[in-house]
Amino acid sequence: MKAMLFLGLTLAISLLASREFLSMHRPDEIFPSQGLTASRMLSDYFPALKSTPGDTPVYVYEGKERGGHILILGGTHPNEPAGYITAILLAENIRVAKGKIIVIPWANASGFTHSDPQEGSPQRFDIKTISGRRWFKLGSRVTNPVHQWPDPTIYVNPMGQKLAGVEARNLNRAYPGKAHGNLTEKVAFGIMKLIKEEAIDLGIDLHESAPEYPVINAIVFHENSADLAALAQMELQAKGYEFRLEGSPPNLRGLSHREWGDEAKIKAILMETPNASHGRLKGKPSISLIVDGQDKYYERASRLGRLFVPFGPEGIPLKSRVGRHLAGLNAILKSLTELEPEKLVEVENMPDAAEVQARGIGASLR
Ligand SMILES: [Zn+2]
Repeated sequence: MKAMLFLGLTLAISLLASREFLSMHRPDEIFPSQGLTASRMLSDYFPALKSTPGDTPVYVYEGKERGGHILILGGTHPNEPAGYITAILLAENIRVAKGKIIVIPWANASGFTHSDPQEGSPQRFDIKTISGRRWFKLGSRVTNPVHQWPDPTIYVNPMGQKLAGVEARNLNRAYPGKAHGNLTEKVAFGIMKLIKEEAIDLGIDLHESAPEYPVINAIVFHENSADLAALAQMELQAKGYEFRLEGSPPNLRGLSHREWGDEAKIKAILMETPNASHGRLKGKPSISLIVDGQDKYYERASRLGRLFVPFGPEGIPLKSRVGRHLAGLNAILKSLTELEPEKLVEVENMPDAAEVQARGIGASLR
């Protein structure tokens, strides 16, 4: 009798846990702005991705007049929420008068279907909007092992760089991708195909990093985009945003800011904002840590001079990280026009960094 009861209890717990687990496979929703001119999937550019967990929505905003073509990626790393929330904000607000902006909010869609093991991270976080709370998934840095298994002992990426096995599932080591490679390499290949077919001039990959990591509050640039990055940095400084400039190391292969520039010859930039929720020094993982960004251990580390960004009691909330990405995007687009006037991209209703910081992210979400 006891054994039967125990078995019943185990089954009930497993059922609840598996429902919770499987709920991660339901994608979040986006409500694109009226300015959307085409809604596609990555598989429209690379059909081998069709019906795979690597396929992901692609939102196109094209102006009536010609101008620059920009690709903006969020969710290359699904545990870096400021990147994809910024991309979602753009998708739900912008209208393009001149040129073209393409937004991919969940670049590694498979990585959004699970969370990093042994981290105890919440699966979702919520943002208050005018019509209630909206929930967003917090995924893992890498592709779901259910979709790509097993990891090799040593991963040799498409450019021949040898990396730890788990990096086989890291989209930002898989460029320029492989048509017949693993799922992550196929996604990278699809993004490269999009870049070429859409004649993209500039690609921007939105990330976050841990406050103890040196590449932070940074613009990482391919050497073909050095002028652009430097001009954008000055523009940002004038507005009170400190960004450091980091050149893309030529020997570090497979990254967006390296291979987009080398292979597709487009300008390539990656931006990083500081996210305590995926750092190693954090205390208890929680929704509040993701959204409000306060953590007493990071505060202490900052006092001890161990961090690369200031971290006070007010923390670094998601709205200020998203604000930084928006300010960065604005400065980059403005600088691109200064350097190459024919690449002008005229965007209307772009969420304003200061406004997002003052009124919260939810005020600009649909
Ligand atoms: Zn990242």
